[in-house]
Amino acid sequence: MILVLIDHDRGEIDQLSLRALTAARKLDSDIEAVVIGAEASALSTVVGQYGAKVLHVASHSAISDYTPMASGRALKDLVEKLKPTAVLAAGSPRGNEQLAHLAAFLDIPMAAECSEITFGSPHHVLRARWGGNLIESANVHAELLVATVLSFSIEAESVDGPAATVSEFEPSLQPSDSVVKILSRDSGETKGGVTLSDAKVIVSGGRGVGGPDGFGNLEELAALLGGTVGCSRVVTSSGWRPHAEQVGQTGTKVAPDLYIAAGISGAMQHIAGMKNSKTIVVINTDPEAPILRYADYAIIGDLHQVIPALTSAIRQAKG
Ligand SMILES: Cc1cc2nc3c(=O)[nH]c(=O)nc-3n(C[C@H](O)[C@H](O)[C@H](O)COP(=O)(O)OP(=O)(O)OC[C@H]3O[C@@H](n4cnc5c(N)ncnc54)[C@H](O)[C@@H]3O)c2cc1C
Repeated sequence: MILVLIDHDRGEIDQLSLRALTAARKLDSDIEAVVIGAEASALSTVVGQYGAKVLHVASHSAISDYTPMASGRALKDLVEKLKPTAVLAAGSPRGNEQLAHLAAFLDIPMAAECSEITFGSPHHVLRARWGGNLIESANVHAELLVATVLSFSIEAESVDGPAATVSEFEPSLQPSDSVVKILSRDSGETKGGVTLSDAKVIVSGGRGVGGPDGFGNLEELAALLGGTVGCSRVVTSSGWRPHAEQVGQTGTKVAPDLYIAAGISGAMQHIAGMKNSKTIVVINTDPEAPILRYADYAIIGDLHQVIPALTSAIRQAKG
């Protein structure tokens, strides 16, 4: 049996976890899911649709919004009881962190961001390193495989299964398990009310935008296309836009239908977060900018002219 950690935000499922469930189902038909925090017990229908037979729900007064060490401890309790062959989770920063705690408690290795898993003795994985610029082939020497699934390496596929049976348990938490917890939160919602990771269209700006005021044009274009605004790290470090909008290795990893990169050079840490976008349009004054290697379409020009021209052409086409 494979146990899959389903991450959620106050009961709202993390879509990457559905991809992890699908990856697990391709390895074994016997899958159970686990959520941390009682407010997620309503997720039994959705995890059932994706093939999980049982949904284990860890509830404890010390578990709040996100308490990664408590998650690790709860998973350890469950692993010792259920003895699965593997524990998987989404290869998101949160998925990686929670499974790293589990592996540390069990004193075994953990393989992060795997694009391929083969069970054996040892287990074998392919995993993305250096923001996806290097693929590592590695053996994992442990009976229990603890691994996360590389974001966007697999599509979520429903099997229309029945709702999973809910099984609640109270983990044996220690006071030190809640030493890391969320004290305040940014909603993660960008200005258009769309979350970056779920947006179908992202209009992203970099240093080339020139300052916070320059983002008005990007917001207008994003709104017209039903999308949202993203940005590079230079932009968030300069305080032009909030961190919730940062795309990249240390921001959000995205895979929208359309990614418009305006005034972004294409550092590998940015590319790591957006290279799975279905169509990439680059607007840059520099015809040698590294990001052009990833572009499906490129407009060499000043974004302050190109974006208003695009906006007006789209408005006209829409009538
Ligand atoms: C550990 C680590 C983690 C990192 N994580 C991230 C991350 O998650 N996300 C991220 O984005 N970066 C990240 N970075 C930073 C990254 O290395 C780059 O510094 C950053 O992505 C560069 O941002 P930029 O492309 O906006 O700026 P620049 O590299 O300065 O590029 C600006 C671009 O704008 C173009 N330009 C200028 N004016 C115009 C104009 N008027 N019209 C059109 N184009 C114009 C220029 O030709 C240039 O290509 C990380 C770095 C480190 C070390």
